[in-house]
Amino acid sequence: MKTKKNNILNSLIVISVLFVVVGCVCNSGRESGGDTNSASTDETSQSGSLKKDSGDFIVEHMGVKNQRYESIDRSIRKNKTLEKAADKLNRSLILPHDIPLRAKDCDGVANAFYMSRDKSITMCYELMEYFYRTFKRSGDSDEKANDRMNKAVTFIFLHELGHALIDAYQLPITANEEDAADRCSSYICIEELGDDGVKAVVAAAEFFAIQSKSGGQRSAKVMADEHLLNEQRFFNSLCMIYGSDPQKYNGLVVNNLLPKARAVRCPNEYQRTASSWSKLLKPWRKD
Ligand SMILES: [Zn+2]
Repeated sequence: MKTKKNNILNSLIVISVLFVVVGCVCNSGRESGGDTNSASTDETSQSGSLKKDSGDFIVEHMGVKNQRYESIDRSIRKNKTLEKAADKLNRSLILPHDIPLRAKDCDGVANAFYMSRDKSITMCYELMEYFYRTFKRSGDSDEKANDRMNKAVTFIFLHELGHALIDAYQLPITANEEDAADRCSSYICIEELGDDGVKAVVAAAEFFAIQSKSGGQRSAKVMADEHLLNEQRFFNSLCMIYGSDPQKYNGLVVNNLLPKARAVRCPNEYQRTASSWSKLLKPWRKD
């Protein structure tokens, strides 16, 4: 239990990093001009400049039930971490309704989720601890486990943001939404966050890989789950990275992490993903 305090302190860093990252998401990748191009969908191109800003990312401090999370909760309030993130997002994105941002403990459940009922995004402190412990169990030092936790949490937060934006903008998603949210996160990380973003995708991929080896993957419940299997999320993440720059990330193939048969498809796969998300979000970006 002594390590808990350390974990929680580490989580503070996570939150800070997380929302600094989010603040960059929509600013850095914004396309100027506000006009639409021929590749835009009809609906979005015609209404692209007419979107009404009727909501904000708003911070809701929920308090903590478990006292071991009190220090992180207190610090987040004091540093106004959530408020700063919400402010940056609000200056970047048009919203049709409010989207509450929450970081809290979740009754012992390691999770992160978007809730369509109240349009909120919640990151649970338990999930951060779970990432940390998972990386520690894989042999990481405290420092490395903390670092990988930071990055994996960033990826997962952006996954949840993907769900929130799909719902808020009623984006057309024709396949598995969980996969779409993963690709939204990969797109934001790789396109807009540079090397740090790529590292976030890598950390998430490593987490999926570790999880896939932990057993119990093949139950009917797991197979039927709307999330892709950890193995698939691992390879898809690598595919996005490799596809974004095959030369730069050739090591993924050379070192047999990403099978060649899949790798050859990844450049097109990545370009399609990036192009789709860029078009879908463009009408909602503020100048
Ligand atoms: Zn999801």
